[in-house]
Amino acid sequence: MSSFLLEIVTPERKVYAEDVNMVIVKGSEGEMGILPNHIPMVTPLRIAPVTVKKKNVEEKIAVGGGFIEIRKDKVVILAESAELPGDIDLARAESAKQRAEQRLGGKNDGYDHLRAELALQRALNRIAVKSNG
Ligand code: ATP
Repeated sequence: MSSFLLEIVTPERKVYAEDVNMVIVKGSEGEMGILPNHIPMVTPLRIAPVTVKKKNVEEKIAVGGGFIEIRKDKVVILAESAELPGDIDLARAESAKQRAEQRLGGKNDGYDHLRAELALQRALNRIAVKSNG
């Protein structure tokens, strides 16, 4: 089975660098499966799990938005944040979820709704990856 190098980097660190057979991401226009020799391109990513297929193993990584850059030699995900299941603190994600829900459900119109909505998406993404991982 042919493979390619997948790197996932955040402003803080390199989270992932492995040879993989396929990666599935959620772009602005929906899910996208990337196999070896994909045409080069750059496209934005949503807050969503990234699925990596490696031999017979499937891994999920919580990516908090960013960009995917498909190059000839490798695929790079430049992520706002990225965590492997083992790095996710479930209690922290649960409390971020509660906080965001309170802000979204509250009557305080002064609150930044978009900010709370994005925080909720990040928390739900982490909870989903942790539960499946
Ligand atoms: P919180 O409100 O809990 O800080 P957040 O969604 O605002 O969550 P981010 O700004 O997306 O957090 O991330 C800040 C840093 O904290 C990143 O390095 C990210 O990987 C890490 N991080 C955030 N939430 C978690 C979590 N539940 N488990 C592990 N790392 C986390």
